Amino acid sequence: MSRFLSKRFDGLEEYVPGEQPRDMKYVKLNTNESPYPPSPLVLKRVNSDEVKKLNLYPDPDCKSLRDKLAEFYGVLPENVFISNGSDEILSFSFMAFCDGEKKIAFPDISYGFYKVYGDLYGLDCTVIPLKDDFSIDVDEYCGINKNVVIANPNAPTGMSVSLDDVEKILRSNPDNIVIIDEAYVDFGGTSCIPLIKKYDNLLVVRTYSKSRSMAGARLGFSIASKEITADLNKIKYSTNPYNINRLTLIAGEAALDENHYYEDAANKIIKTRTRLSNALINAGFTVLPSDANFIFVRCPDMDGETLYLELKKRGVLVRHFKTERIKDYLRISIGTDEQIDILLEKIFEITGRKA
Ligand SMILES: *Cc1c(COP(=O)(O)O)cnc(C)c1O
Repeated sequence: MSRFLSKRFDGLEEYVPGEQPRDMKYVKLNTNESPYPPSPLVLKRVNSDEVKKLNLYPDPDCKSLRDKLAEFYGVLPENVFISNGSDEILSFSFMAFCDGEKKIAFPDISYGFYKVYGDLYGLDCTVIPLKDDFSIDVDEYCGINKNVVIANPNAPTGMSVSLDDVEKILRSNPDNIVIIDEAYVDFGGTSCIPLIKKYDNLLVVRTYSKSRSMAGARLGFSIASKEITADLNKIKYSTNPYNINRLTLIAGEAALDENHYYEDAANKIIKTRTRLSNALINAGFTVLPSDANFIFVRCPDMDGETLYLELKKRGVLVRHFKTERIKDYLRISIGTDEQIDILLEKIFEITGRKA
């Protein structure tokens, strides 16, 4: 234990990102990045002229990108908050909206960071089990009178809740914030952004890390009522006003100007996802229905950790979680068709199964 760290962090278990080993070149299907590079316009605009301006601070208000996002999503600039990755918005929300009185609820199987933020801010979190089929138990959140955070589609299952169900949760908790984390929505989910006009307690969190091929640029944003957005700004201006660097702001705008590129990429990923799912289902695997850029699968006769390790030995990285309920599952990010061909070849070699 550190002599210096505040005692309030004694029990804190930090988030463990997916491994990025350097010992060999892997087919990397473990952190849900896009296998495709940013669009040509991003490469063109983030150039040496812009690098030359790095002596100047970026616009803390992110006005230009905010205006563009507002227009793109049909909301007002006052509804848009921009952050250094969407993790930062999640962190700010737990900090801003939760305390000993305002609790927060989320599913037992979901994005691992929710629990970490809960612990970081000393919150008493309510963890609600997914149903046996790994769907979200919507009724458990209705009228719970706590803040709620749900990833939709959920991670690592890839399964979605309907907008009707999101509305039920919003309507029955009018004095609490409902955070819908839409990191994966562009791969087949339905966004609840339009609902912000109807519900001032809705906070929709989005990221450029997955469908916009920019995990390395660290850019996220949220769409919510003016009130919630102003609250988030209060926290941002009290921690790190220049939270987005100049190059990332430019890249974020360029990506919106070339949105068709990202739609095409998402469609390619959806096609590859269908092909991979079908191949594994034909080989006898359990594959949860996914609206995301990953699938969650179980081999009928090999435990998750063994299959993960055997794949790693053969140069293919996927994500395995030790959590009891999902320890026999693997989360596989959808890569290029070539990457998925290698994955399938190795899986069939290891398990002796075939499509
Ligand atoms: C990847 C992911 C994030 C974090 O995204 P960043 O914008 O890279 O911080 C947030 N929520 C979920 C559910 C994710 O899978």
